[in-house]
Amino acid sequence: MAVTTELVAQVIEKIAPKSWAEVWDNVGLLVGCGSTPIERILITLDGTLEVVEEAKAYGAQLIVAHHPIIFRPLKNLRADNAAAQVPLRLLQHQIGYYAAHTNLDQSIFSSSRALAGVLGLTKIKILEESVSDLNPLLDLGEKRGYGVSGYLPRPEKLGEVWKRFLGLLSQSGLYAHPYDLAGVRLAGSLEKTVRKVVIVNGSGASFVPKALFKGADLFITGDVDHHAVLDALEGGMAVGDLGHFLSEAPMLQALYDYLSAEKALQGVEIKVSSINCSPWNS
Ligand SMILES: [Zn+2]
Repeated sequence: MAVTTELVAQVIEKIAPKSWAEVWDNVGLLVGCGSTPIERILITLDGTLEVVEEAKAYGAQLIVAHHPIIFRPLKNLRADNAAAQVPLRLLQHQIGYYAAHTNLDQSIFSSSRALAGVLGLTKIKILEESVSDLNPLLDLGEKRGYGVSGYLPRPEKLGEVWKRFLGLLSQSGLYAHPYDLAGVRLAGSLEKTVRKVVIVNGSGASFVPKALFKGADLFITGDVDHHAVLDALEGGMAVGDLGHFLSEAPMLQALYDYLSAEKALQGVEIKVSSINCSPWNS
């Protein structure tokens, strides 16, 4: 039986059901057709024009992405509308686009969990648990939610734990391609003792109050603003900002491993984009 877009969607939704996504989010198949046969899949964090061209060169019929390309209301598909360029190019090349966003963030494949593993945290708990599904068919028997909290194996000074963490990250195998540490930032006294750590991949600023409430010494996230950092420091919590891309890229490798091991998708070639990267130069 040929693999179709619909089958790929079903496989992804086994670990990240669409019903888990936030109401403001836009997940699932955003461009394409459920019955299209799939031979190659390109995995990416962002659906940029360059990534669409990469998918075309690779011969992919489907892009599986974390970030939706249609998010803010898209009011037209005009060739002179910048926001419409990616969907138009996808249609032109007959490539589908599937997004797993806040539903994937709450799954066992979240980058928060992968990063907690790198740091060797113990007693890992979900930071903000989501209510379980009303539909028992979607109840995986696994708690889900945003972010994780945990403890370092032994207390460490902030400067030491951050250096160790970045070193481990580079050896972790979580990144398909060498990553750039430009843009990685740390706020807090390097001499501060760290025991409890909270990690929220992506834009984690809104979780600062929760992390403070949980008594975290260090909050690691991917996209945090000036005032949230000041709030954290005033509450005695250091902040490590990996940048949005670096904090979420581990999900791509996890998704690649999961899809590659799935029997139903045997014969489908899959790769992680080698072009998609952080938009920041420095
Ligand atoms: Zn994100």
